[in-house]
This record gives sequence, structure tokens and C-alpha cells, in this order.
Amino acid sequence: MIDIDGGVLALAEGIASQYEPPIPLEQIAEDEFLHIICDDYGSTTFDGLTWFEQNTDEFYIHLNCNPSKRNSLTNMKGRFTLAHELGHYFIPSHRLGLITGELKPHGSVNFLDNPPEWQIEREADAFASALLMPSSSVKDFIKGRSFDFQLIEAIADRYKVSKSAAALRYADIGDYPIMIVFAVDGKIRWVNRSKEFPFWRLKYGNGKGDKVPEYTVMGTYFNEKDNSDCRNEETIYAGDCFDTRLETDNRREFFEWCIEYKNCAISVFWEK
Ligand SMILES: [Zn+2]
Repeated sequence: MIDIDGGVLALAEGIASQYEPPIPLEQIAEDEFLHIICDDYGSTTFDGLTWFEQNTDEFYIHLNCNPSKRNSLTNMKGRFTLAHELGHYFIPSHRLGLITGELKPHGSVNFLDNPPEWQIEREADAFASALLMPSSSVKDFIKGRSFDFQLIEAIADRYKVSKSAAALRYADIGDYPIMIVFAVDGKIRWVNRSKEFPFWRLKYGNGKGDKVPEYTVMGTYFNEKDNSDCRNEETIYAGDCFDTRLETDNRREFFEWCIEYKNCAISVFWEK
């Protein structure tokens, strides 16, 4: 885990506080005299890229609108990409790096596939998450509401973010412990959890490449190509899913909500 400097989050929240959700990213760019350019940069390159033009002293944000990238100025993924690039502009060390050339302009890719060890990318993602979903606003929005997946969908809808981005934000600042698992081809890509989630690890581990537990909705999707339990609240048992340690924990009941897409799946787990 990389620690995110609290200053990065405070910076994002401070900017967000000047606007009403859903945060108008194009307006922020306009207010800062940033140029946003949407173009097709191909299917195998970046989602977004921020560039400082030395000749004119201007910043340009390039958004890759190749159809396979599914980025647009207004859709959920494009908004996260744009907010991430705004992070590179607003975070003082990133901005200075871009101006001096010490931080090479880099193509940023969607956080689902980002290598987590890359500090500046994590910082820009954390900035994006706090900018799009300011903590005080989200906490007000979820106050008094019991947790179910519809709450994640409501956050996504209110703040115009993807469900995965909303779930990650909820894990961070929500009041009911959840675990989020993203996997590709039956192997774990990453795991994120609320601090209070009762189990630390999945049954076969949380590391990149560890096997998805088979008796989960996600496991069934990967192993049997069966998605009939996806996009639904399904009951699973702790013993099948988590590294429980104690025999008595094995029958604890959890819900899993799995969203599958081609060779990928993301699941949210929470206790009944
Ligand atoms: Zn980036």
C-alpha cells in the first residue's frame, strides 16, 4: 500500500468545495485556462496525458477518445481520466515536474489496470477520487442509509463516476465495511478493503495473480462461464471466500455483488 499525502486530498477537496456535484471538470479546466483535447490516439496507448507546452506556457490535457478506450468528456470513465489528469496539473510536485521536464509526460491508464506501485499515478487517482467525490458531500449523502449495492449505484449516479470508483471511495470513507476485488482471467489483479472489514485476505491471497476462490460468484463466472448470479445480491460463506483462521468464522454469511465484463470481473463483499 502506498500512503497518500494528506495534502493531495485536502487540495482536491478544496477545489471541489468551489463547485456543486457532479463536479464540472470542464469548468475547472476552463477556470484554470487549461486546454482539453479529445482525439483518437489509438487503442493501445493511454487514456489521458497532460502536457506542458514550453513555447506558450500552457497546459494541455489530451483525452484518448478511441472507441475501445470508452473515454468521453461526459461519461464516467472519461470523467475519472480527466480528474486524474487535473491531479497532475494541480498537485504542486507533479506540475513542477511537468514544467521543468523532470516528470516526463506519461500516458495514464485507467486505475483498474494501473500498476499500484507507481506513486504519482496513485496520487493522481487519489486526487481524482477526492475531487469527484468530496468526503463531506459523500458522507452527507450516505448518512443514515444502510449498505447495499444500490447505495454504490446511487453514489455513482450522483457524482457521475463508475461503480468501481464509487465502491473504492465508499471503502475509504463509508461507514459499513466492504471488500472490493478486481480479477482478470480468474486471477486477482487487486484487492481493496475498508479498514474494519473482518477478514484481511481472500482464501488464496490478495496478491496479483493469486487464484480467485472458486465458490464465489466471481469464481463461478471465471470457471464455468456462468454469469447467472452476477449483478445480484448473492449469499456466500466466509469459509469459501476468505482466509478465516477460525473454524467458527466459516459459516458467517456475506453478500457478494459481482459485475462481469468479458475476461474481467469486479466484486463487492459485505457481511449480512
Ligand atoms: Zn497519470
